[in-house]
Amino acid sequence: MTSIDKLFRHASLAGHAEPMDIAVSRGQIMAIERRIVADAPVVDLQGCAVLPGFVDTHIHLDKACLLGRCAHIHGGLDVAIRAVSQMKREFTLEDVYARGANVLEKAIQHGTTRMRTHVEVDPRAGLRSFEAIRALKRDYAWAIDLSICVFPQEGLTNDPGADELLVEALEKGADALGGCPYTDSDPDAQMTRLFDLARRFDVDLDFHLDFDLDPSWMHLPTICRLTERQGWQGRVAVGHVTKLSMMPEAERQAMAKRMADCGVALTVLPATDLYLASQKGVNAPPRGLAPAHTLLDLGVVCSVATNNVLNPFTPFGDVSLLRMANFYANVAQVPPAQFGRCIDMVTSLPAQLMNLPDYGVEVGNPADLVVLDAPDLTTALAEIAPAWMGFRQGRMTFERQRPRLFRPS
Ligand SMILES: [Zn+2]
Repeated sequence: MTSIDKLFRHASLAGHAEPMDIAVSRGQIMAIERRIVADAPVVDLQGCAVLPGFVDTHIHLDKACLLGRCAHIHGGLDVAIRAVSQMKREFTLEDVYARGANVLEKAIQHGTTRMRTHVEVDPRAGLRSFEAIRALKRDYAWAIDLSICVFPQEGLTNDPGADELLVEALEKGADALGGCPYTDSDPDAQMTRLFDLARRFDVDLDFHLDFDLDPSWMHLPTICRLTERQGWQGRVAVGHVTKLSMMPEAERQAMAKRMADCGVALTVLPATDLYLASQKGVNAPPRGLAPAHTLLDLGVVCSVATNNVLNPFTPFGDVSLLRMANFYANVAQVPPAQFGRCIDMVTSLPAQLMNLPDYGVEVGNPADLVVLDAPDLTTALAEIAPAWMGFRQGRMTFERQRPRLFRPS
């Protein structure tokens, strides 16, 4: 029998009524049982909830933490895109690396173990941001799997040079390809071209899509059609789709069934979706948040993710996915019986969206374990329980000191 290097005791695991022991050998989970006897170093998890880590499918490391260098105007999506368009001309590799590292370290400390970052590639940013994120991917692989999704934020067909740069990034090993048809002067041509590139480079697609509150027209049906035509089912995700929040229920359900049938996944970005849905002079403004937890019932793979951190799109963010799931649950008025779904939308479902084969606290998988300071996941979601400690292939990657009270004697 393979020797056990580390033994985790008293782990509260989903699907098990009693606390379980987890044996690790050479970075892999080799047993999960009620009681394991072994001569190995023990970590007592004290009955706390254990996850394989949070999975963030949609974040922008390259343009995070810009608030200090621009006068933030809460002017909506177009104003934010223009503000970053100006600033990114000045981005250097070192600058993007430093801001990205700051965000990544916070994400790691909040228990995120897998992440897809979108990276703007165009004639203004060149490949500088991409190269910086590649360095981050390499330098933080001890704690987190970073997947790089390159995309043309300011359009593809209307931005000469963007296409060549995207191809160069894909040739250099970008993991996924993103899109943003709503900023393109020819959205259909952009979507078609990106599907062609995805097939050529064998990468997943992830679009920013239908990010406004007018449900009278959508790009989503075109994405579904192209997904079927190109045989890319299960490899396409769409982010935002705030139009879904404004559709009549029957139309939304029909759209959800279509997405489920052709394997198009949905990511909602609550912090940005809510912030940019603001409307001046409107009483009870709409929330602009697609009701992802209800789309799950219709078979759509849904995730809740971070998107922007401390920039003109979203001047908030501590990069905690548990906070984001809690925020989603609160704003979407999710009943406690469905809190588990909100946890699924930052763990197993985004892992499915990203086609991660080795995710989960299961025998044979890497011993990626995140311990939350709560007895179970429902409580953790309700309380936004701190991540107590994390392990990557069995090696500790972070630990948070629990607070202590000093009562008078
Ligand atoms: Zn985004």
